Amino acid sequence: MNCSEGIDTRQVDELYINLDPIQAGGRLTTDAMKAVIAYGDGYSVCDNCVKPFRLDHISKPPLAEFHRDLAEFLNMDVARLVPGARRGFQAVAGAIVKPGDPVLLTAYSHYTEFLSVEQSRGMPFEIPADESHVITPDAAADRIEEVIRTTGKTPALMFVEHVDYQYGNLHPVADLTRVAHQYDIPVLCNGAYTVGIMDVKGKELGADFLTGSGHKSMAAPAPSGVLATTDEWADKVFRTTGVKGDLTGRTFGIKEVEMMGCTLMGVTSVGMMASFPHVKRRVKEFDTQVRYANQIVDALLSIEGTKVQSGYPRMHTLTRMNTIDSFDKVAKTHKKRGFFLTSALRERGITGILAGSTRVWKFNSYGINKEQAEHVSKSFIEIAEREGLPLSG
Ligand SMILES: *Cc1c(COP(=O)(O)O)cnc(C)c1O
Repeated sequence: MNCSEGIDTRQVDELYINLDPIQAGGRLTTDAMKAVIAYGDGYSVCDNCVKPFRLDHISKPPLAEFHRDLAEFLNMDVARLVPGARRGFQAVAGAIVKPGDPVLLTAYSHYTEFLSVEQSRGMPFEIPADESHVITPDAAADRIEEVIRTTGKTPALMFVEHVDYQYGNLHPVADLTRVAHQYDIPVLCNGAYTVGIMDVKGKELGADFLTGSGHKSMAAPAPSGVLATTDEWADKVFRTTGVKGDLTGRTFGIKEVEMMGCTLMGVTSVGMMASFPHVKRRVKEFDTQVRYANQIVDALLSIEGTKVQSGYPRMHTLTRMNTIDSFDKVAKTHKKRGFFLTSALRERGITGILAGSTRVWKFNSYGINKEQAEHVSKSFIEIAEREGLPLSG
């Protein structure tokens, strides 16, 4: 079966337990899949768009209500849908970073955070991580002082990742924002790995801006995401158009400049909205998901030589392992070389770990159930035993 010539159907999450680091939290709910079919056509949410003609004012389907619910869910004042967390960074940087402004990022910032600074012609400065791979308030304070001393300017913005993509570690965002605010630096909290998975309360974290990724963590189609802010910053980041056509005299109502007017006009917004009730429930069950992740890590750690590079015990399901002294030893002599591990996992119905990796690799077990957690744990141990690796404990 295929979609059309040359385009096969994709059957990954139907057939496998998918541990892909970036895919686990974006897997669609059944309701989102229904929305995808019903709202697949281009501007499908525009059937009942009436004055003032803006996405967040549409009441059928209930996008206006969804925007309000999202802001409340995130404990912020205002929310807008954006095509990915990155477009949230871009909107914020575009609105508040001027050419030559220093901007703080971290040693774990995502490339799209850097690109948003670059596009605004700001100058990126990274806050280093400590030896346990956490961004500490002391490191932030030191870097702020240094940047002010060397550039003569206070940073225009600070990016912090709630959970980073390299180690899946949880960073002390509330403490980091407290430090930044002492210097009047606004903070964007990047919740690409948390909004939609964990219960994220923006104001409790002190965030001036909070971004989430629909396709990474909110069970939504790509490209989708959310940018939320406080009343203090809303007028700046969501400023409305003021230009006029010089010949025609046309003006453009209340379209928001950084949003380019409207953002998610069909399958993305409705898919996100269809998953939202599920997302609201699932953030309350994150503890169970963390328990499964720890169960898998513990199974891996029982294979001698295996290390977990992320903080342990885990506080998030995205985890970085080091199997240089276990699975990689097998890879040296195995006929399938480094591919033996991912191939053996695949035989057991598990996919999503980068093919061929036996050294340092990541998995994200978000969304699995009890039986699947047991199966994944048992599979790693079975593979190790079959290859003659010693087990401890
Ligand atoms: C995935 C990721 C992003 C990008 O999210 P999009 O929604 O695809 O734009 C940004 N930051 C971090 C930390 C990420 O892991």
